[in-house]
Amino acid sequence: MAVRIIRKVVILMRKMKFVHVIAALLCILASVVFFIIGLLHRIFLLAAVCAIAGYIFIDRKYLRCPACGAFINLDHLFYARSHTYHCYNCGEVIEIDK
Ligand SMILES: [Zn+2]
Repeated sequence: MAVRIIRKVVILMRKMKFVHVIAALLCILASVVFFIIGLLHRIFLLAAVCAIAGYIFIDRKYLRCPACGAFINLDHLFYARSHTYHCYNCGEVIEIDK
């Protein structure tokens, strides 16, 4: 019983923040833009790689299921913001701070 409550508190503390979803989205957009510019000027390809690395970092650190650590798609996270969304792996409700 006590273990269950502690687990619940830990999950609540690791609640996802919508800022991280936005940040991940911006990283993807930036990498696409930099890649297109990079076709003309090679140096921007480096910036595109940095943006992708930033996205991977945010994704690994913040955009996982708080309970089991499963990967969740960005569009699913957008859905979870306004709807009740359950983790496909463990069934835990994914909550996102606005
Ligand atoms: Zn999960």
